[in-house]
Amino acid sequence: MVFEANIGAPINRDDLLEKLSANLSEKRFLHVQNVAATAKKLAEHWGYLAVEKAELAGLLHDYAKEETDETFKDLIHKYKLDPALLEWNNNIWHGVVGIYKIQEDFGITDPELLRAIEIHTIGSSEMGLLDKILYVADYIEDSRSFEGVETARSLAYEDLDAAVAYETLHTVLFLAQKQVQIYPQTIITYNAYVDKLRTKNRS
Ligand code: GDP
Ligand code: FE
Ligand code: FE
Repeated sequence: MVFEANIGAPINRDDLLEKLSANLSEKRFLHVQNVAATAKKLAEHWGYLAVEKAELAGLLHDYAKEETDETFKDLIHKYKLDPALLEWNNNIWHGVVGIYKIQEDFGITDPELLRAIEIHTIGSSEMGLLDKILYVADYIEDSRSFEGVETARSLAYEDLDAAVAYETLHTVLFLAQKQVQIYPQTIITYNAYVDKLRTKNRS
């Protein structure tokens, strides 16, 4: 079947799955399918009508994750992206730069879909419904099993903004604990959303 979401290019589901399984490890291929299923559930729950677009976002979001550093650096130059990106690594690149690879390989032009994938790791101070759905689905999909995931799963269906806040807070804590650099936009997301958690008196 062909995805009916109008995303700038017709995408056949079987062809997409084949391409994903060729590009991704078995574990990551399962992960993206889980994220798609969770994104679909969240879309239905929160009244995001383009449910297929949410599924596609899930399937495609980590498409570039196994590309080489050289590929990302070439894309940063080719598309004249912020040179400060060169200081980062795959964790940041696979979304922010990965969308250029997705546009090249699939001909997708839908700005809403690309935006959600672009910021799926780092969030934003201004997130639309699809952005939040993908950001949270990535964190709570069925195979995730870190401490706190059950809280994140409940929040996701009770209060989506609080789920974004919870995820961002715990990502920031996790990165600081590991003593690694935190991407500035992650902090911006944290600042924009932290109140959504505090006003609910959750931590
Ligand atoms: P995944 O691609 O499904 O593993 O999930 P994400 O795209 O959300 O995150 C990818 C990796 O980036 C994870 O290991 C996160 O901990 C890490 N990450 C998230 N935000 C930041 C950040 O601001 N800075 C750095 N250095 N790493 C981050
Ligand atoms: Fe990712
Ligand atoms: Fe992911």
